[in-house]
Amino acid sequence: MNGPQQPQIQLLVIQPTPFCNIDCRYCYLPDRSNKAVIAEETLRNLFAQVFASGWAAGELSIVWHAGEPMVLPIEFYRRAFRLVDELKPADLAVGHSFQTNGTLIDDKWCRFFIEHHVNIGVSIDGPKRLHDRNRVTRAGRGTFDKTVAGLRRLRDHRVPFHVISVLSSESLAVPREMFEFYIAEGISDVCFNVEETEGSHVSETFAAADIEQAYYRFLSEFWRLSAAAPGKIAFIREIDDTTRQVLRPQEARFFNQLVEPFAVTSMDWRGNIATFSPELLGLRNSDYGDFIIGNINRDRLVDMAGRAVLAKMLADIRAGVALCRERCGYFSVCGGGEPVNKLFENGSFATSETTYCRMTKMRATDLVLDRLERMRQAEAEPRGLDGVARSPVPIPSPTV
Ligand code: SF4
Repeated sequence: MNGPQQPQIQLLVIQPTPFCNIDCRYCYLPDRSNKAVIAEETLRNLFAQVFASGWAAGELSIVWHAGEPMVLPIEFYRRAFRLVDELKPADLAVGHSFQTNGTLIDDKWCRFFIEHHVNIGVSIDGPKRLHDRNRVTRAGRGTFDKTVAGLRRLRDHRVPFHVISVLSSESLAVPREMFEFYIAEGISDVCFNVEETEGSHVSETFAAADIEQAYYRFLSEFWRLSAAAPGKIAFIREIDDTTRQVLRPQEARFFNQLVEPFAVTSMDWRGNIATFSPELLGLRNSDYGDFIIGNINRDRLVDMAGRAVLAKMLADIRAGVALCRERCGYFSVCGGGEPVNKLFENGSFATSETTYCRMTKMRATDLVLDRLERMRQAEAEPRGLDGVARSPVPIPSPTV
C-alpha cells in the first residue's frame, strides 16, 4: 500500500453465518444455504488484531450482516459483545448494528436490542404486493407478513430502527403508495437502494429505459409528500445525506470510505478479510480472484496492508477515482463512487460513471440543487417547498 498514512477502520462488517432463512430473488450471495457459524476464536482474532493495530480510533461501528444475523441465538451475540468489551481500548466507542430481514424479531430480541443499544436496519421493499415479488422463502412464498410483524414488535418495544427498501421499476412508479405504506406502519427513517447488477445478479431495473428520470421523479415526489406531512418521515437517507454533502463547508473534504483501504473492513465466517465495498466479499472476478486479502486466523491484519492483491485493487480503484475527479461535475459530493458497481457494470474498478451513480449520486444531487434553487426563489415570496408561507431563512451556497 502506498503512502505513510496508517489505515483508519471506521466500519467492521462481520458475517456471523452465511445462512439466510429466506431466499430473495435478487440476492447475489452464493453461499446463503450454508448453515456454518463463525467460531468464537475467529471473532477473538479479529477484535484482538483490530484493536492492537491502532487502526480503529475514536469510534467504530460493527455491522452484523449477510446472511441473516438473527438466525443465530441471542446468546451468540451476548458473548460476541462481551468479547468486544473485554478487548477494546477504553477510549474506543463501539456501536453494534444489525441488518436484518426482520422475520425473526420477537420480544426477546427487542429486549436485547434495547439493552445493548443495537442499531437496527430492516429490509422491507414497501407494501405487500411489491415486497413479496422478490423477498420470498425457498418455497417461493412472500415474507411480508413476517417482516411487518417484526417491525411492529420493534415499534411496540420502542426500539429505534430504519428500513432499507430496494426499489424496482414497479416501486419507482408509485412513490405515493410507498409513502403511505411507511406512514401506515409508523416507519419514519427510510433508506432506498436500487436493485443493482452485482455478482451473478443482473438488474432488470437498471436496464429499464428512463430509469434515471424515474428515480429522480420518485425521490422528488417522496420528498414532497414528506414535506407536506411534517413529523411523519424524519429521515430520507438519499435526500438527507446528499443535502449534507451539497451544503457542507467548501473546505471540508469528502471522505469516501469505500475507496480507502480498510476504512470498511469485512470478514466472512471463515475469517477471510476484504475491504472497499463490503459486497465484494463472496464475489469473484478474473482480475482479483475472490477479493480476499488474508485470513484473520492465519495472517496478521497489519501484514494484509502489504498484500499484492490489495495493491492491485487499490491502484485500479484510485485510477477510477482519478477519472471521476477529472470528468465528473458531481465529484465533490460523491468522492468517486462505489468500486463494486464500477467493476460489475463497467468491468473494471478503473472507470467512472455507472448507472448506479447516475441515479443515486447525480440525479439525487440534481434534485437537491433544484430544490435549493426553488427555495432561493421562494425566499422572495416567502413560501416553503410545500407551499406553506414561512419566514425566509438564508440558504447556504452549495459545494457542487
Ligand atoms: S457520480 Fe459517478 S462519475 Fe461522478 S464521481 Fe461519483 S462515481 Fe464518479
